[in-house]
Order: sequence, then C-alpha cells, then structure tokens
Amino acid sequence: MSLNEYNKKRKFQETPEPEGTVKESGKNIYVVQKHKASRLHYDFRIEYNGVLKSWAIPKGPSINPSNRRLAIETEDHPLDYADFEGIIPEGNYGAGSVIIWDYGAFENHSMKDGKEISLQNAYKNGHMTLILGGKRLEGEFALIKMKRDNQWLLVKKDDNYADRGIEITKKYNSSVFSSKSLEDLANDK
Ligand code: MN
Repeated sequence: MSLNEYNKKRKFQETPEPEGTVKESGKNIYVVQKHKASRLHYDFRIEYNGVLKSWAIPKGPSINPSNRRLAIETEDHPLDYADFEGIIPEGNYGAGSVIIWDYGAFENHSMKDGKEISLQNAYKNGHMTLILGGKRLEGEFALIKMKRDNQWLLVKKDDNYADRGIEITKKYNSSVFSSKSLEDLANDK
C-alpha cells in the first residue's frame, strides 16, 4: 500500500493532519469523520493493509436498510488519521473542519459462494461485508462497488441494529471524541 497520493496532496507545514506512514495496528480500526469542506460529507474509513481505505459519503451513513448511500472512494489515509480532529486551514486540500463522528473496530464477514473470504479479496471483488463495532454504527453493513470507477454504495443490513425510524446523522451531531460539533470546533479558533 502507498500513501503517496495522500502525502502529495498535503502541505504538512500548514495542515495539522498527520503525515502518512504505512503501518499495521492489528486492531481493525474503523472511523467515520464528519468533514465540512466545500461540501459537508462523512468520511468512512477502515484499516486495510496498514492504511485506512477511505470513502466520502455525501449524505452520511444510514442505519435504515432501505437507504443506499453513495460512497466515493478517495485516497488511502494513514492509520493515525483515525485520531484526527481539527481545522484544515484555507488554501489546503480539504480545507474546513473535521470531527470524529464514530470510532471503533470492525470485523470482516465477507463471503463469496458461501465461503468466508479475506477483506482484500472482498475489496477486489467489490463487495465487502463488515460488522461495525462503533459507538454509533453497529452491526452489519455492506459496501458494494458500482460499475463507475470509485463509486460504491454503503447499505445497512436488516439486523438488530437497523432502524427505519431515525436518521442517525441527525440524531448525533457531535464528536465521539471531544463532544464538539463542527460549529464548536470552528468557534474554538
Ligand atoms: Mn473528507
């Protein structure tokens, strides 16, 4: 895996984001960051071969199994990014504010032809089944690649953690790490 694209896009003398190195945590890190850049979106990231595979979800994740949320794959991020919350200064890539909206670990439960397969094979096949153990997102989710490059769908499986009655991104607005909202963070300056 490589973080060249991540590192190339950023000026580390200006942005507080961590500089990237590839390393394994052995913890199967999962994180969702709420990011107010030119447009608000949620960055969904999972540990994969020493980096965080990353998808930008414009509408955010949903726990309603009827919703299929577009997830656009973006450049791999370093594992240290999972702890990042802060303000990316104007003039920098992704300028705006970032909070840690959900955090935890995941398990790979991907299958092919009735057999469990590795996360790596599931990624290559374009169909991953993940059990999320976050503070807000729990249970089974599928990430399914569409025909168009970089476009995936994030879909909640209809399990005990599914709920058709609430919009989870409306229910929870703040950071699981600092309890700050994006607005609180912006006002901290
Ligand atoms: Mn982002």
